[in-house]
Amino acid sequence: MNKNLGVKISDNAGFCFGVKRAIDLVEKTLNEQSKVYTLGPIIHNPQEVKRLEEKGVKILKDIDRVKSGCIVLRTHGVSLELRNRLEKDKAISVIDATCPFVKKAQDIVKNLSSQETTIVIVGEKSHPEVEALVSYGEGKCVVVGNPKEAVEFNGVGDLSIVSQTTQTPQNFNAIVEILKDEFKVTIYNTICKATLERQEAAEKLAKKVDLMLVIGGKNSGNTTRLAEICKAQTETYHIETVDEIDNKWFKNFEIIGLTAGASTPDSIIKSVERRVREILECYGKRYF
Ligand code: SF4
Repeated sequence: MNKNLGVKISDNAGFCFGVKRAIDLVEKTLNEQSKVYTLGPIIHNPQEVKRLEEKGVKILKDIDRVKSGCIVLRTHGVSLELRNRLEKDKAISVIDATCPFVKKAQDIVKNLSSQETTIVIVGEKSHPEVEALVSYGEGKCVVVGNPKEAVEFNGVGDLSIVSQTTQTPQNFNAIVEILKDEFKVTIYNTICKATLERQEAAEKLAKKVDLMLVIGGKNSGNTTRLAEICKAQTETYHIETVDEIDNKWFKNFEIIGLTAGASTPDSIIKSVERRVREILECYGKRYF
């Protein structure tokens, strides 16, 4: 029997510390309060968010309609304006599930906002974490998403460079190198360790397998980047659930790798693993 055949799961696949903490806080709040809200989805995984909705969490588009109850703030954090507004509203209680690593990046940007510097945020402009980070910069932030935008950047003065927590070191470093050529820069690498560990483990596994499945929300930045990293190494599909799997993908392959974003629950990873093993068996592949 060849032990190299079969399904391999990447180290660190699935829930990170920050997401686990947020889900625990929501579940605890549901046990203690009758009206529990989140502003937007608490994490970027539609299936897990639906599970929490079924347990009673209501997702708000804006806070204006809520007069009382408890709002749990999402892992990616909220804008400074909203935080200040919620602090003043005594009828609504707030549970802050902002990930401590995101909070650290927000604190750095807030401190920099009172200094003579332009704050460059390396990240995706429309991602909630980046939008919130920008708000802490009090008008001093510019978002740079990729090396092309770094080349086109035409600011003045010294730069302080901060990262969205889920960026790849490759993108962050490439942007830093370009900006360093023209500006005096101070670097604040706020990429979180959980993200790095996942990316490194996924890349290592992708180099050894025939095909990678990356499981997680299509709206999840860290899952999308895992898929990009794996795609650079081998054939890769980004799926949210087992339902998106196409049997034909596996026909000519024998070693399948699985990884999952930081907001993907274990139950979904397990169901994908089961399904892939069944498909491999159907194709008569002997493994395990
Ligand atoms: S990926 Fe990192 S920053 Fe994001 S929630 Fe998880 S631990 Fe926090």
